[in-house]
Amino acid sequence: MQDAEIIAVGSEMLTSQRIDTNSLYITDQLNALGIEVRRKLIIGDDRELLTDAVRSALRHPETGIVILTGGLGPTEDDVTRQAVADALERELVFSQEICDGIEERFRRRQRKMAEINKRQAYLVAGAEVLPNTNGTAPGQWMVNDGRIVIMLPGPPGELKPLFATECVPRLERLLPAQVIRARFYRVTGLTESDLDALIAPVYTKYANPSTTILASPGDIQIHLRARCRSEEEAERLLAEVGGPIEELLGRHLFSRNGDPLEAIVGTLLREREATLSIAESCTGGMVGERVTSIAGSSDYFLGGFVTYTDRMKTDLLGVDPKLIAQHTAVSKEVARAMAEGARARTGSTFAISITGEAGPESGSGAPVGTIFVGFAGPDGPPEALRFAMPGDRPRIRGFATQAALDLLRRRLLKLD
Ligand code: ATP
Ligand code: MG
Repeated sequence: MQDAEIIAVGSEMLTSQRIDTNSLYITDQLNALGIEVRRKLIIGDDRELLTDAVRSALRHPETGIVILTGGLGPTEDDVTRQAVADALERELVFSQEICDGIEERFRRRQRKMAEINKRQAYLVAGAEVLPNTNGTAPGQWMVNDGRIVIMLPGPPGELKPLFATECVPRLERLLPAQVIRARFYRVTGLTESDLDALIAPVYTKYANPSTTILASPGDIQIHLRARCRSEEEAERLLAEVGGPIEELLGRHLFSRNGDPLEAIVGTLLREREATLSIAESCTGGMVGERVTSIAGSSDYFLGGFVTYTDRMKTDLLGVDPKLIAQHTAVSKEVARAMAEGARARTGSTFAISITGEAGPESGSGAPVGTIFVGFAGPDGPPEALRFAMPGDRPRIRGFATQAALDLLRRRLLKLD
């Protein structure tokens, strides 16, 4: 199948007030069918620019589907119908049937159709009507030189059901029989460039499955998507590419199904009938927030301490003031003592702790981005790891939270 282009129409989306979300929805739906989006555009309510955009999309031999959203309303600035007709060099023809439908819709609401609504009853010659049960303007489906052109209403509440019920089945009929299978890996503890250097030699050998890498601080997602004639073939290809990737990622790979780290550690704790407590300084409760975002976390999460000052570390966690005086609060020693204290005060099986410098200024003298993550459990003495996190305050705190959850995961799995 050829690729698609999406054109979102509406001057409001060229301001900071409104963003085009329709194209995101359409992209998801198309991708699920195995259709890629090769370009999307946002065009204001400008008939000439829009005509140009449609012509330009149709000039690309790779573009088999052009989808327009918005600008099908009744007012002067709704120019999509006219622009598409111009681009395809077709007439606009009045449809009494659509007009009756719009009139009926108004009547049901005890209102009279305004004369301008008749503009919505014009079809590009040869277009098929896509009924819109949630609004007045129907969608339109055209085939032009073997290419498909689709016009859809702008309001998301109209577009989504219309696309799902009218467009997806029509597109499915046109596609060769194929199945799509995907793997969704998540990785932490590697930079995006290190990760890519590691696995690119594997995935670049394959166009199918396609590989997409999405990076956010401390969390890189790898999507593999195979499109094949049969499920067996798709699964075989995924295993062929996914197997070596999993091997290379080793302990950095924390999720094979897209679940976040807090869900993964939750499952591991529950399986072990173990409990968790948390002691946080510079993250101010972010770890606790993530752990408790998982439904059912009360099965294993006992509670957490937000101990921001030295005194609170001593009062709530029993950290020895001499330890703080000697090493500062941002130290391995204090991170260990915080984890040990949380574990002792709650009676949890495991405890994790975070202390560090999130910036922009350093209070302890340690460089901004210095983070210590502590861990205490039943097997052996408490430990702490030091990290030098890059970036600004939100980024450092996000990284630190992820590092703490990941240390817990690795200890639960007995990985290094
Ligand atoms: P209407 O008959 O309601 O005028 P229309 O097809 O002309 O429908 P627009 O006027 O372009 O649609 O948009 C109507 C509303 O739909 C906009 O105010 C906006 O809130 C929303 N909308 C339009 N396009 C998009 C888009 N691409 N993404 C998200 N929302 C959109
Ligand atoms: Mg409109």
